[in-house]
Amino acid sequence: GSTDIGRLTVDDVAVSFGGVKALQGVSMTLDSGKIYGLVGPNGSGKTTLLNVITGIYKPSTGSVHLHGELLTGVAPSKLAALGIARTFQTPRLLKDLSVWENVMLGGYTAEKSSSLEVLLRIGRARKESRRLGARAYELLDVLGLAEHAGTRAGDLPHGLQRMLEIARALMVQPRLLLLDEPAAGLSADELQVLDQLVRNLGGGGVTVLLVEHHIGWVRELCEHVTVLDQGKVVTAGDPETVFVDPRVRETYLGV
Ligand code: ADP
Repeated sequence: GSTDIGRLTVDDVAVSFGGVKALQGVSMTLDSGKIYGLVGPNGSGKTTLLNVITGIYKPSTGSVHLHGELLTGVAPSKLAALGIARTFQTPRLLKDLSVWENVMLGGYTAEKSSSLEVLLRIGRARKESRRLGARAYELLDVLGLAEHAGTRAGDLPHGLQRMLEIARALMVQPRLLLLDEPAAGLSADELQVLDQLVRNLGGGGVTVLLVEHHIGWVRELCEHVTVLDQGKVVTAGDPETVFVDPRVRETYLGV
């Protein structure tokens, strides 16, 4: 039904790089409209897991499904059509283009499949670009970027570049949003804006998975946390339980 449209299941996934077992026997289920955290020390496999979910790496065993559709091995270019959006640890912006152009490009990636139709039907294309323009404006406004619409993306302060990457990802109206360390480099005010945005997305039925080192924020925001260490799930569950688990405190928090 529509209530599980963003349900993601990761089943017994393993990935190796040469002799390094980056992931082993990793399983998790993400329900629609909930906010999930993925934490663990550097090298524990967090980014590898995002890369498996987004088809960049094909696991040696196991599978990933979104709402029953197999994602394993799906071309990254098909992800937007499937309703999956992602941001990267280092924002991947077109630095010489303006903020406005960057966010609009997020929308055109999403509409790629209908670009021929768009070319053939100018009237429809105008309507479409008005719709995308309205959405772009709304996202820039919400993320505090409206006044920077004409700024070259590469000239934005680091935190705002991160916000712009999130705005661009949201142009596809994803049902699953994957955020890789979104809080890194944000000011307290920017983090507040991001926090509210993620909560609103969850409230709107979007499934959110965030890889994040800002544990205080993960504790407040996430309904469920998975802890990875050396490619394996150490524990998973309610943050209040997970972060007092002695294994987590020892292996991850180092206390
Ligand atoms: P995290 O995101 O938790 O810091 P990663 O997923 O980046 O961890 O890395 C997990 C392990 O896999 C590390 O040992 C890392 O060196 C290795 N690894 C990740 N990507 C590659 C790659 N493309 N080639 C070789 N080894 C890799």
